[in-house]
Amino acid sequence: MELYYFHEQCDDGKKDSEQGSASNVRVVYYTPDYQVVLTRRCAYVCGYCNFTNTPSPLPASRKQFRQWLRTASRLGARQVTLTAGEGITGQPEIVSTTRYYGFEGWYDYICCLCRLVLEHNGREPLYPQIDIGSIPFADLLKMRPYSPLIKLMTHSADDSLQDKPAHAKAPHKTFRQRLAALEDAGQVGMRVATGIMIGIGENPDSWTRAAEAVSKSHHRHGNIEHFIIKPFQPMRFSAMGNLPPASDEALLSAIRAVRDHLDTRIPLVADLQDRLHLVPAAMNEGMDDLGDLRIGSTEHINFDLPSALDAVKQSTTKAGIQICERKLPVSRTPCRKSVLPGACPNGYDNGQGKLALSPASGNICL
Ligand code: SF4
Repeated sequence: MELYYFHEQCDDGKKDSEQGSASNVRVVYYTPDYQVVLTRRCAYVCGYCNFTNTPSPLPASRKQFRQWLRTASRLGARQVTLTAGEGITGQPEIVSTTRYYGFEGWYDYICCLCRLVLEHNGREPLYPQIDIGSIPFADLLKMRPYSPLIKLMTHSADDSLQDKPAHAKAPHKTFRQRLAALEDAGQVGMRVATGIMIGIGENPDSWTRAAEAVSKSHHRHGNIEHFIIKPFQPMRFSAMGNLPPASDEALLSAIRAVRDHLDTRIPLVADLQDRLHLVPAAMNEGMDDLGDLRIGSTEHINFDLPSALDAVKQSTTKAGIQICERKLPVSRTPCRKSVLPGACPNGYDNGQGKLALSPASGNICL
């Protein structure tokens, strides 16, 4: 397998490996993310999600979308996540809106939005992440040139959830079907952020089963960007909105269990958006990366995040941990050349020459 390593730089310009060896400082990265909710329509009802119980916007026009990109840039985002429900391609509102905008269908519309993100001429380059569930094989092929990363959570390896509130009305969330979607992405050669949600009624044994299955997929295709552990957080207007959130202890034991069974080449991400105080403990259990930290979305701006992050940075510095912003659309995962981001296999220039692939080293450089 031909492997490439991507190096990040912290504010002082040293590569993370240099940073760590020089001063024993452990470095952990996060990606400032702006979420664009394209529609809250969904053909299914997961117990932990409120999409189908809340009003949905119409999918955005190009003009509206460009305005959101400007907002994302002003907020300091690096990544724009395009979010929508699943199984909606045939819904009348989606069909008529996308045709009105001049597209053949939903996935052509998504391709266009990804291109707009890459072409956005803001302060810093932006890159898209698609979070719209499983995507048909033919449409994955169309998207590959424009999408460095798709997010496709397996959610859980425990299929008993199909009889519990979490997935009773989400027949598409069996583990077999989610792995099949991962396999399609692997065959197309798209980088995938995947993972599980914990605290939704699953058996803890399923955490390691998911880690092992994803490791096998990475061994076959070399395209897993990172494995995310997302703790359950009750959402208003969802079927599980009255249940308690996953405990910090459960999250830490899930991190430990998954790290023990996950391919060591796959970075482990814990979603600590609302639990930043856990950074040192999560790193001690095996967390490698903070993944996406949502600085805002088309529905609200997270005004508290910058100050919360500053406070955590100060406290973690004392513990020998440096929290840095990720500037690239990919992490340090060793990956096959064939799954380099489609948008930048030979260098991607957003008009300011800020992102380029170095042919000599195979690294993406800013
Ligand atoms: S499939 Fe996704 S969008 Fe639809 S209800 Fe489940 S989690 Fe929400």
